[in-house]
Amino acid sequence: MKQRYNATIKTKGPPLPHPPRDKYSVLKHTFGFSGFRPLQEEAVDAILSRRDLAMLLPTGGGKSLCYQLPTLLMDGITVVVSPLIALMHDQVLALKELGIEAEMISSTQDRQEQQEAFAKAKNKILKLLYVAPERLANGSFLAWLGTLDINFFVIDEAHCISEWGHEFRDDYRRLGELRSAFPHTPIAAFTATATPKVREDILSQLGLRDPLILRAPVLRKNISITVRERDGGWRTDLMNILKKHEGESGIVYAFSRRQTEELAEFLSKKGLKCSAYHAGMSSEQRRSVHQSFLNDETQIIVATVAFGMGIDKGDIRFVIHTSLPKTIENYYQEIGRAGRDGIDSEAVLFYSGSDFFTKKRLIDEGGDPQYREMTLSKLRAAMDYATSEECRHKTIAAYFSDTITPCGDKCDNCLDTQGSKKEITTPARMFLSAVYKTGERFGATYIGEVLCGEEKEKILSNGHERLSVFGIGKEMSKSVWGTIAKRLVELGALEPDEYKALHLTPLGAEILRGKQSVHIREERLSPKKAEKKSKAPHPNAPAHYEEFRALRATIARENGVPAYIVFGDKTLYELAERLPQTREEMLNVSGIGEVKYERYGEVFLELSRNIKGNG
Ligand code: ADP
Ligand code: ZN
Repeated sequence: MKQRYNATIKTKGPPLPHPPRDKYSVLKHTFGFSGFRPLQEEAVDAILSRRDLAMLLPTGGGKSLCYQLPTLLMDGITVVVSPLIALMHDQVLALKELGIEAEMISSTQDRQEQQEAFAKAKNKILKLLYVAPERLANGSFLAWLGTLDINFFVIDEAHCISEWGHEFRDDYRRLGELRSAFPHTPIAAFTATATPKVREDILSQLGLRDPLILRAPVLRKNISITVRERDGGWRTDLMNILKKHEGESGIVYAFSRRQTEELAEFLSKKGLKCSAYHAGMSSEQRRSVHQSFLNDETQIIVATVAFGMGIDKGDIRFVIHTSLPKTIENYYQEIGRAGRDGIDSEAVLFYSGSDFFTKKRLIDEGGDPQYREMTLSKLRAAMDYATSEECRHKTIAAYFSDTITPCGDKCDNCLDTQGSKKEITTPARMFLSAVYKTGERFGATYIGEVLCGEEKEKILSNGHERLSVFGIGKEMSKSVWGTIAKRLVELGALEPDEYKALHLTPLGAEILRGKQSVHIREERLSPKKAEKKSKAPHPNAPAHYEEFRALRATIARENGVPAYIVFGDKTLYELAERLPQTREEMLNVSGIGEVKYERYGEVFLELSRNIKGNG
């Protein structure tokens, strides 16, 4: 068996016979894709016309292609700045597999490897050169770059440049100097998510000139989201979720190092192939865990958030959080690691009210007050997200100032139509009325106190004990009023300003006038939560999928590359579904270009023919 495969696999790709010259043929022949995904073509065109570009595309949207393709149509080299060595390494590997000349320069290489990369760049062999941001702070390196014919610069994970982001990196700040060092070279910046503040920082700090701004909706359609309260039986729920994903790759995020180890042990005892991963492990240990995950030997990684940014594995089918994330930025990025290949995947969050207080305590411990306030408000937003009953996708999008329609069937809230809801129009109107009568100058807590008729000094000094709404909500607790306030914010009837004072929106005014009713999920008003079942859809693999998967694993092992580098899951699905019988049919499968076909195509074709022959 082994011999036969080796005979057909060439480890060094042959040069393309006739380099294709237009974007569509490069897309087809080099990348093996039959069409552009949304916004990709616009990005490619902007780069080809030498215009600056800022692109916000969710994880899995296909950012890499946007700069990897145009450089193949240009004469010079493209310099890609990327924050993590692991990330660069995987990208370079994937490019070489496509027959594209790419190298990286990093501190992990020895002198000779670096010299070779330098020489290839100098001799105009390379199309892409990946460099770590700290390199660009080095004057002699910049001077050397100046001797190359650079098509354009790429700043990957551009949100790292902003202090308002969740992953600010000092060495990204220096990237602002690129523009002055290379005033005539276009810059293309890419990120998966950015709040408006971060977006502004990217544009201004990189000094982009009249950039084309491309922004896809904040939405990962192929990820089904579920959020549940973490009660006593949550580990049973977790096991049920993992059972659904038998044999598939996934990440389970835990809060602390100790928790990752404990949970990994628990899951191992249940017979699952899993490993813990956290910053307390040696880099050697971490590398080996990472590697065995990429090779599908480890199925589940139980990790702190230290694990992730460098993970470029397309076939992660589930991401599970076992506690409340610190921010929605983090959360969105972490769940975004699922389903990068576009195949249905799942994200489940188990949270508890106590998570909020544990994390808040850590924030309270120190630091600059302004920074503390910002961190705290991000944490609050994460908690509000967890308890919200609006569409999860829509809520995340709204956090990034994007408006989308409810997903309908890709989140627990949209699927849960029969959950018992209670009408709260009357208390909602009381609350809105109190907001209005106190002049839209106060936060939810204060309004709750007014409704409960508390004779606090602040209330008395404002004369609010004389208002008609004072004390009209006595029969409900302040915490219930707090929940009603949250619900009204969730619905968009109230909007907090930067001082947390609540303001009525047009919808709020309609509710106040009795033109709209308000409902809330019943269990939110009483702490006891109803058991919820996950209705998240689960992908069904075609028949024979496993045979293709096994073949891929063999080939990956023999070639010493991760399985997804050979073919992504999507390609594998298509192969199993269509069972191509000829070279042409193989080339029509998404993800199979000519070089890939040369390398691996025939073995898969043979399998496909055998299956069809037997069936
Ligand atoms: P991002 O960097 O935006 O997270 P990637 O560049 O890693 O996304 O691309 C995600 C996946 O989508 C990859 O498996 C890639 O091969 C695939 N992909 C990208 N562009 C296309 C396309 N036009 N058609 C089909 N698949 C694509
Ligand atoms: Zn939804």
